[in-house]
Amino acid sequence: MQPKIGIIGGTGLGDALFGREQGRRIEVDTPFGRPSSALAQADWNGVEVVFLNRHGEGHVHNPSSVPYRANIFAMKKMGVTTILASGATGSLRDEIEPGHLVICDQVIDKTHRRANTFFDSGLAVHVEMAEPFCERVRKVLMEVSAGMRTVVHHSGTYVCMEGPQFSTWAESNMHRGWGGDLIGMTVMPEARLAREAQMCYALIALPTDYDCWRRSKPAADKGGLLKEIIANLNRAGEAAIELIKAAIPALASHPPCPCHQALELAIWSDKSKVDPEVVKRLDLLIGRYFA
Ligand SMILES: [Zn+2]
Repeated sequence: MQPKIGIIGGTGLGDALFGREQGRRIEVDTPFGRPSSALAQADWNGVEVVFLNRHGEGHVHNPSSVPYRANIFAMKKMGVTTILASGATGSLRDEIEPGHLVICDQVIDKTHRRANTFFDSGLAVHVEMAEPFCERVRKVLMEVSAGMRTVVHHSGTYVCMEGPQFSTWAESNMHRGWGGDLIGMTVMPEARLAREAQMCYALIALPTDYDCWRRSKPAADKGGLLKEIIANLNRAGEAAIELIKAAIPALASHPPCPCHQALELAIWSDKSKVDPEVVKRLDLLIGRYFA
């Protein structure tokens, strides 16, 4: 399989990778509706890269309303085999400072009102999620981060909350007690769906501030605090772009990965009993197992 890299992130990331005018815009439709935005495809130093703005143009989708299934399905339709995702988070640890990067290795999923599977009716599919991120892609990211000036943490547990409100003090301390390192709102169900779509998926988390467990000095100036968060996001964003740019060539020669066979033993239904209409609708994902 020819590797093709998909990148999911914010508008700034797309602009920084492709430049404002570059990239062929492609409207994609899926059985799960329209993705967050048009996809942008560009040749990046000889490697084909597809970019998707998770929150849509103008940041119109909140974390609960992001069309995650359409987004991942659209990436699959474009032939993407490997997804590099990035997202802003709050830090739950002193040592993970705003502006650092974290190549996450675990997730605690607290989301509860999002469609989190492609296989919600007509067949039973149970993929492994013990390692929610692709270890091979994580390894590439760790390797290419070695020369960077920014501190890049090689592991971290991301607590994914529903939001859109932030945590209470009690919740923030509970998340720390659970072993969480970061708190965010978007990695799930994105990582689950990428696994169901048999794609490699890794996340570069951008801590923009400490979550509320670390009580900041009484904010004399809320505007100043917001400015600081945005500055941290920009700083981490620039570092994330550097990391992604360095990873793309390495990923373009990526060997086949177990992620690409994630459904091999995961379809528990008697295939002869599954409605052909269901198979037809999900042909892109499961067709090869029903051929
Ligand atoms: Zn993989």
